[in-house]
Formats: sequence, C-alpha cells, structure tokens
Amino acid sequence: MEPRDLSAHVAYEAGRGVEEVARDLGLDPESLVKLSSNENAYGPSPKAADAIREYASRVHTYPKSSAADLRERLADRWAVTPEQIWPANGGDGALDYLARAMLDPGDSVLVPNPGFAYYGMSARYHHGTVNEYPVRRENDFAQNPDTVLPHYNGERIIYLTSPHNPSGSEVSLSDIEAIADGTDDETLIVVDEAYGEFSQSPTTTALVEERDDVAVLRTFSKAYGLAGVRLGYAIVPDEWA
Ligand SMILES: *Cc1c(COP(=O)(O)O)cnc(C)c1O
Repeated sequence: MEPRDLSAHVAYEAGRGVEEVARDLGLDPESLVKLSSNENAYGPSPKAADAIREYASRVHTYPKSSAADLRERLADRWAVTPEQIWPANGGDGALDYLARAMLDPGDSVLVPNPGFAYYGMSARYHHGTVNEYPVRRENDFAQNPDTVLPHYNGERIIYLTSPHNPSGSEVSLSDIEAIADGTDDETLIVVDEAYGEFSQSPTTTALVEERDDVAVLRTFSKAYGLAGVRLGYAIVPDEWA
C-alpha cells in the first residue's frame, strides 16, 4: 500500500525548546527566554490557569459539541452571530476548517512569502496547491493591492496577515477591500489577526459583516498566553457560516 504523494509537503519546523538550546550551548535554561515561537513570555493569566485546574477532573466526558457558550461569548465580543464563530484547535485548526470548506482538489491558494507556514501546509493537506506573493523590505513589507494583485491568478483563498508575522506590517481595511474587489467573487480573503491584540488598528471583522468574501482568524495563543490550550477561531460571513 502507498500513501498519497506527499512530496510537495514540507515538514513544520517548530522553534527549538529552551532545554535543547541550553544543553547545546552549555547554558542554564533558567537564564534563557524563548521567543522563537512567539509564545507569551509572561505565561497565562492566573484566572485561566485556575479555570483549567478546576476543569481537569472532568475531562473524562466530551465537551459541549458545539462550544455553545464560548461561541456565544465570542459572538457578543465581535457583534456577529454564534454561527459565524468557528472555534478550532488553535488558529491552525481554523485554517484547516477554511481550507476544508473552500478547496476542491487542485484549487490553489495565494500566501505571503515570508509568512506563516501553516497557510500552505493546510492547503496541501486539503489537496490544494500553493502560490506566493512576496512581502519585501523595499515596500515596507506591504500587503496591498500593488504587492498582492500582480501575483493573483484566480486562487480560491488569499491569506493576508495583519499584523504580519514576521515583519509586523499591517494591512488597512481599505486595502483589504480593494484586494477583495480586485479578485473573483469566489476568492476568499482570509485576514489572519493572530497578533490583532498588539495593534491599534481596527479589526477586519466589520468587513466580514459587509461582504461574503472576507474571513478573519483569531487565536488565544499569543496575547492570552494560551498556546498550549490550542484554541483559536475563524470569524466568517453569515452567508456561508
Ligand atoms: C501563532 C500564529 C497563528 C496561530 O497559532 P495557533 O497557536 O494555532 O492559534 C496563526 N497565524 C500566525 C501569523 C501566527 O503567528
């Protein structure tokens, strides 16, 4: 038996752990702060730790199948309906849901380079192919109609990251709209706001309410210091939520 052709896939290379690096360099692990995976160096809120501890003795039963309470709270937070909130195993899991919902075999996606590796990985898992647009220092690392649309070739999903990892550049709402206007009706613009809490700019969620071709990604991993809980979500348009 042969597994499917996986030759186009690239392995995810996670940031190395503190113990590993300390051992290699002969340093005290306590003297190092790990920044390589953008985890919150301060740890989670003590209230979050309490909530996890309190729930620990009840993990033998399955959780609420539709995460009803969480979705309701998040829907309130973003002024959308609970159906529009897709909680998942981290933002990565929400990217998988979006790829699963959108990609037919052979469809392609357009991703920033450099950029978050999981956009392309998830597309390939879902039998999609991956094209790139460059994010360059000469353009102040901009993701805008001038830097993205020349590389657009009918892809089903375009990923924008705002603030961008690794450069920190941001995409304005008017540029997101212009990119969405400049692409086919059947092209979805996913705006990854994994670092949205670190920005003063308005969230893209307003656009999700106005049009059916923009979705937003959010996560509890970074600002909330809950990377190990694996909790993120997509906010998607009502039309197809
Ligand atoms: C960390 C990160 C995510 C999602 O991470 P999860 O831990 O799966 O929620 C998504 N996009 C970017 C740009 C990130 O840096």
